Amino acid sequence: MKRIYLDHAATTPVDPAVVETMLPFFTENFGNPSSVYSEGRAAKKSIEAARLQVAQAINADPREIYFTGSGSEADNWAIKGIAMKNKSKGNHIITSTIEHHAVLHTCEYLEKQGFEVTYLPVDKDGLISLEDLKNAIRKETILVSIMFANNEIGTIEPIKEIGEIVKEKGIIFHTDAVQALGNIPVDVKDLNVDLLSISAHKIYGPKGIGALYIRKGVPIDNLIHGGAQERKKRAGTENTAEIIAFGKAAEMANDHLETNANHMKTLRDRLIKGIMDNIPQVRLNGHPEKRLPGNANFCFDYIEGESILLSLDIIGIAGSSGSACTSGSLDPSHVLLAIGLPAGVAHGSLRLTIGKNTTTEDIDYVVENLIQIIERLRKMSPINADCPIDDAVFEKAAHHQH
Ligand SMILES: *Cc1c(COP(=O)(O)O)cnc(C)c1O
Repeated sequence: MKRIYLDHAATTPVDPAVVETMLPFFTENFGNPSSVYSEGRAAKKSIEAARLQVAQAINADPREIYFTGSGSEADNWAIKGIAMKNKSKGNHIITSTIEHHAVLHTCEYLEKQGFEVTYLPVDKDGLISLEDLKNAIRKETILVSIMFANNEIGTIEPIKEIGEIVKEKGIIFHTDAVQALGNIPVDVKDLNVDLLSISAHKIYGPKGIGALYIRKGVPIDNLIHGGAQERKKRAGTENTAEIIAFGKAAEMANDHLETNANHMKTLRDRLIKGIMDNIPQVRLNGHPEKRLPGNANFCFDYIEGESILLSLDIIGIAGSSGSACTSGSLDPSHVLLAIGLPAGVAHGSLRLTIGKNTTTEDIDYVVENLIQIIERLRKMSPINADCPIDDAVFEKAAHHQH
């Protein structure tokens, strides 16, 4: 049976052109990039070409790109590396309640080490408030880390404006741009960011390779001590093939950014309209306009997201409920709780994320089938229209968060 993959926020298939570019680096071009003979020099040269491709995708200097083992590693390094290096200046960090766990759990770890963390709330659309940010800044604040675009609800934060506020105060600014890259323009110079995390497997590259952009001169602790790789900041023989792949994927993402984004946006709007027009008691989560081109996230009253996922899987559709990390557990998504949804409503969430290869037929098939699935599940549901979750409760819960 044909599969329709609508979970591009979790990961993407590696583009065949990317696979082709990386394969020779497992075989013919296997040299250690630190070796001085020609095999080594060839590998080194290819890595530097890939570094330039990644740099160009975010308008950075290649010397500001440090390859890591994942987006999570880049987030960990940015936050712990800045905290440790700058602890004599202060112990306060500002982040948001809707960050990826790679940021949230790192901040929680630092709290146990004596740092103080402010978790900024978000409004019902998932946006942080610039006023809240200004009010949270103290003289001890050394780092602000706010994600560019949310992986669950797709909301795009005002990074440029945040960057201006933070820069003016002389505080270091990190953004997790893992979901932004390849979907919306990412320009480190325009955004006033000091550090920015990205990951290859979200942009049709392989899993297990990411990068941290570190603006020249930003004081940060080294991550791995050892050899001289990555300008001595992250030692270890380079993951050559995957670095080459990341370079190619970043170049392709950049070259086709607008075409891909427009394609995804058209399909996303078709999907949202199809669902909102045909299924009663459903809400769209995330900001109506300031959202990633491929993201659609819904809550269906009276049903569990997990049941929807299983029903979709049977007919060949892959989607997600909450984030990949939370599906399988009964904890509702921290992001959906942060936008004010009661736990009962958050449990009925479905995230469908479109990719560059998704087609109109895929979307129409999903809408047609989802209408039937929701109807069937609601008939079976123990919580039904006799105990409605009305908007007054929803508004009250949203209000309570602030
Ligand atoms: C996927 C993701 C990460 C983690 O990247 P990995 O390479 O999978 O570790 C971090 N932040 C966001 C927003 C993500 O979507």
